[in-house]
Amino acid sequence: MSSCLCNPFQSIFSSNSKYSEVSESSESKMTQKNPSFVLQAPRSVIYEDRPIPKLKSPYDVIVKPRWTGICGSDVHYWVEGRIGHFVVESPMVLGHESAGVISTVGDKVQSLKVGDRVAMEPGVPCRRCVRCKEGKYNLCADMAFAATPPFDGTLARYYSLPEDYCYKLPDDMSLEEGALIEPTSVAVHITRQASVKPGDSVVVFGAGPVGLLCCAVAKAYGATKVVTVDINEERLQFALKYAATAAFRSRKESPDESAKRLIQECDLGPGADVIIDASGAEVCIQTAIHALRMGGTYVQGGMGKPDINFPIMAMCTKELNVKGSFRYGSGDYQTAVDMVSTGRVSVKELITDKVKFDEAENAFRDVKAGKGIKILIEGPTE
Ligand SMILES: [Zn+2]
Ligand SMILES: [Zn+2]
Repeated sequence: MSSCLCNPFQSIFSSNSKYSEVSESSESKMTQKNPSFVLQAPRSVIYEDRPIPKLKSPYDVIVKPRWTGICGSDVHYWVEGRIGHFVVESPMVLGHESAGVISTVGDKVQSLKVGDRVAMEPGVPCRRCVRCKEGKYNLCADMAFAATPPFDGTLARYYSLPEDYCYKLPDDMSLEEGALIEPTSVAVHITRQASVKPGDSVVVFGAGPVGLLCCAVAKAYGATKVVTVDINEERLQFALKYAATAAFRSRKESPDESAKRLIQECDLGPGADVIIDASGAEVCIQTAIHALRMGGTYVQGGMGKPDINFPIMAMCTKELNVKGSFRYGSGDYQTAVDMVSTGRVSVKELITDKVKFDEAENAFRDVKAGKGIKILIEGPTE
């Protein structure tokens, strides 16, 4: 891994003997200079005083994260200590869906000043490789992404980022809404991958935060029919009130039957123009492929089992466009800020709970138990 811009503590990790010297008990965290919520091992978290990050370049800023949303990946690391080949091998600060206030700016920073409120894009690419240069920096192999090992996350008092990875929030946008820009950007990227056009029918499998946001963004892009699919009735009802124009409850039946019922019940004619999977469930993916029209577009947003049975014959004979979607790329964060600030996508109603920094672990428990939609953790008090 090349040197990175957002992990000033990497050197501590390389000599793991130092790590115990900086650990402190939870009681003392109010006196800590840079209290950080650190995952030590699966299910084992501690508040640790980490060194205050220094500006690595004159183009960097230091941000004080004020609100951080918890996402499935954070919980996954907390429970399992790994996601696929990303393994937490040394203690790592959690959190990556944050908005905060600028506390220090480098000499060359032009667009930001101390006190500015910003949404923090948590992944900084190398800027030099072919993928970066062609504008697809989310595919950079040298990405330093918050709370993806070995890079520290944002659940700390201070976090350093390059200026251009901080997006100023308009005055009428709260920092809580700012924390929701991360999942909104995920939905913007998925919807872009799907090339949703005015008049399209769009089906979204999964009514979790990203699925809900995909419904909202697809609608904002002009989709006339937006169908939410889930097994949970409560979530479907929420999605209908929030952004979906129709709901479909999946049940135990073959993907083929399910697809037929979906098309019939939701009046999708020859099949849906676009289907987005935000569930990662094998049966959803199979149903989606069968429910698409000839020449339709499928985008995989959810991550579940790494390998599944895929209806490849249907994909071939219908000439489907099948695409992946990973995080967000050039322009997605700004689009998300613009969509929320203009009211085309609303995120307030997705925030179902807010907890103090000292209660961060409870928030992780609640997310794991499937409580609420999006839980936010407040940054450490001064
Ligand atoms: Zn996330
Ligand atoms: Zn790169």
